[in-house]
Amino acid sequence: MKNFALAGNPNCGKTTLFNSLTGSTAHVGNWPGVTVDKKEGRYKKLDEEINIVDLPGIYSLSPYTPEEVISRNFIIEEKPDCVINVVDATNLERNLYLSTQILEIDVPVVIALNMSDLMDKEGKSIDTIKLEKELGVPVVKISALKGEGLKSLMEVAYKAAFTPRKGHSVIEDKSLLHLIEDVRIAFEGMGVASPLFHAIKLVGKDDIEVENHGNLVSMVDQYKANMEAKEDVDFESMIADARYKFISEKCSSALSKHEVAEEKLSKSDKIDKVLTHKIWAIPLFVVIMFFIFHFTFSEDLFYIGHIGAAIAGVPFDEFELIGHAGWVRFLSADYWTPLEELGGMNGIPSIGVFLQSWFGLATGSIITGFESFMPEGQWYTSLVIDGLLTGLDAVLSFIPQIMILFFFIAILEDSGYMARVAFILDRAFRKFGLSGKAFIPMLSGFGCSVPAIMATRTLEDEKEKNRTIRLITCFSCGAKAPIWALLATVGTLAGFAGDLFVFSIYLGGIAMAVIYALFMKIFSKDQYVSPFIMELPSYHMPQPRNVGALLWEKFKHYLFKAATIIAAATMVIWFLSYFGWGEDGKFQFLVFFDEEAGEYVSRIDLSILSYLGRGLRYFYYPLGCLPGGWTYGEDGWKYTVSTITGLIAKEQVVDTMAVLGLEEGTLSLSAAGVYSFAIYNLFTIPCFAAIGAAYGEQNRKQFWLTMLFWFAISYGTALVFYWLISLYEVAWWGGLLVTLALIGGIVFAGIYVTKLNKRKALSN
Ligand code: GDP
Ligand code: MG
Repeated sequence: MKNFALAGNPNCGKTTLFNSLTGSTAHVGNWPGVTVDKKEGRYKKLDEEINIVDLPGIYSLSPYTPEEVISRNFIIEEKPDCVINVVDATNLERNLYLSTQILEIDVPVVIALNMSDLMDKEGKSIDTIKLEKELGVPVVKISALKGEGLKSLMEVAYKAAFTPRKGHSVIEDKSLLHLIEDVRIAFEGMGVASPLFHAIKLVGKDDIEVENHGNLVSMVDQYKANMEAKEDVDFESMIADARYKFISEKCSSALSKHEVAEEKLSKSDKIDKVLTHKIWAIPLFVVIMFFIFHFTFSEDLFYIGHIGAAIAGVPFDEFELIGHAGWVRFLSADYWTPLEELGGMNGIPSIGVFLQSWFGLATGSIITGFESFMPEGQWYTSLVIDGLLTGLDAVLSFIPQIMILFFFIAILEDSGYMARVAFILDRAFRKFGLSGKAFIPMLSGFGCSVPAIMATRTLEDEKEKNRTIRLITCFSCGAKAPIWALLATVGTLAGFAGDLFVFSIYLGGIAMAVIYALFMKIFSKDQYVSPFIMELPSYHMPQPRNVGALLWEKFKHYLFKAATIIAAATMVIWFLSYFGWGEDGKFQFLVFFDEEAGEYVSRIDLSILSYLGRGLRYFYYPLGCLPGGWTYGEDGWKYTVSTITGLIAKEQVVDTMAVLGLEEGTLSLSAAGVYSFAIYNLFTIPCFAAIGAAYGEQNRKQFWLTMLFWFAISYGTALVFYWLISLYEVAWWGGLLVTLALIGGIVFAGIYVTKLNKRKALSN
């Protein structure tokens, strides 16, 4: 039985073709060791049955994604009798980039020019005879969707399967060809199959090739050293350039040159004129994102509360009636009664805040319900209410906003807009070792780190994904806002307004993200940012089914992964804060009935947690040990414990502080103390739900590195700023001097390491 493989870019129609060829015989498995689908089935309409494999969609045969490695190894090692390279004819140039690589392998290849129905519709056509001549392999026009041309495709492929084919390259650069030929001959001498393919990959310093055939690397390096005198050579990009040159010079002309219809802009092109405009694209995107965040997280929709309050000359009462109550009031006559009487003005909450508030009401009433019948002062009551239900409440209350955020993102994605955004932003991000796609997760981070970390799934490159996850804490999430609000009330900040403090935290977070990104890039062994090749799909109306499926997947993921982790963590923290050695020295549950007050009180100050806090305080000592610092004196352990319980959810920081008696009015921190505490809490390890999300997205080693990174940047940055601001408080000129020295040192070190890396890369 013959084996055929379907290879091509994502979305070129492979699976559609596979389904119509194999029908009911198809079955899905996994490729060994990875969670990528392996689809196999039979084609029965020829003299002989054909086994067909649907390879994962790829843009290149480089070794940067599991999909690429799978497809590449399959073609080279399993040696299918014919590779059917599915090409999306409406995106010919992008798709042919992969074809030029497949052609280098010693295997029969047939090009299936798919989506021909769309070409007809747009009044375009492709000269297949010319294309065949340039590529040197058969080209068959098909429409996988309509089932057109499939029979002749299979007949051509079947015929090709009987004729062995030698790989050939489209590269025409003389000096490059010379080198490739030398390496190819060496490979051939070693008896390696597909020597041309391996030779080209080795010349391009492909990771897999370098690993397998290290002995030939010196040949390439020597050659390179000879060329170096002339110019800065990067063979990998030279090879890529050569491919594109071939495509644009030889193949593009096959495309509908004779058609008048080409003049007519398609609808997609027209929309692109606006959305990917040179100047307006980014501002437009910022506005769109602003509205998404506004609809999801704003407590004052369209700022009508602020505006109304300004017009009426009354204070805006932000914290009084947020959530669903704002709507209730808006719909009641009350809203328009003389504002002076109400003493303030509210806005209408966004849909996200509204739903979250209702959810909170529902989960809150569950807690109240349990409280009403469970006996007071018992450990099991506390376990259920202060432990389990409180933890569950923290997880559930995020669901509405997460779903709404993902709903908007799914629409942007499914409509084809997201692909364009990534494309627009790619250039700026590249300087920091990230590609354009990293932007969406980062923006989401301002809402909640959990969906932000989950959104890194759209990043195909592992390294970039890891880097992006690590930067997420720099974007202050919604749950951290109460911490800033509380700190803004500290008296020592009165010299400069509290809102400026909050603003500086948000902006400072972004600024540090840029610095950390550069830092990761500079110290990375591998400076490579994967090339950002993507086809821009045509715009289309988002499909409810796609959006629904995406939301459902996120929902499940969030609920199961985060809920299990947060439930477990909450129990541990609950135990640590409600058990300890009482005043009688015995280990016990720490809720007692206070005769005088006539109510139950909990003695958290005696808990295991408090002892841990007192111990851990010394660990954090350098971050605030001077008077006015957060690790200084009697209150030191309380701040320490609060940052630790922040692991459950960042709202816990302020909650724990309140329980331990640190509230507005009782905080006595210096400006250095405030900033040190704020900086530590901003950058540090996020809540358990976010840790769970990171655990789900990264492999073991990378996950622990991420935890270490979060801890290191928070401790390090807080340390530097604490002492710097303390110095400013004593002598401003001293602070200035050290600041300048620090900046100088960082810049110098950056330049030095970059140079070192370059030299190392060259000598490799
Ligand atoms: P894969 O990622 O390569 O497996 O691509 P799919 O088979 O999932 O197809 C991607 C999209 O292209 C789907 O929405 C298909 O319905 C559509 N599609 C596939 N083949 C054709 C075709 O010949 N004509 C048209 N108009 N659409 C197609
Ligand atoms: Mg597919």
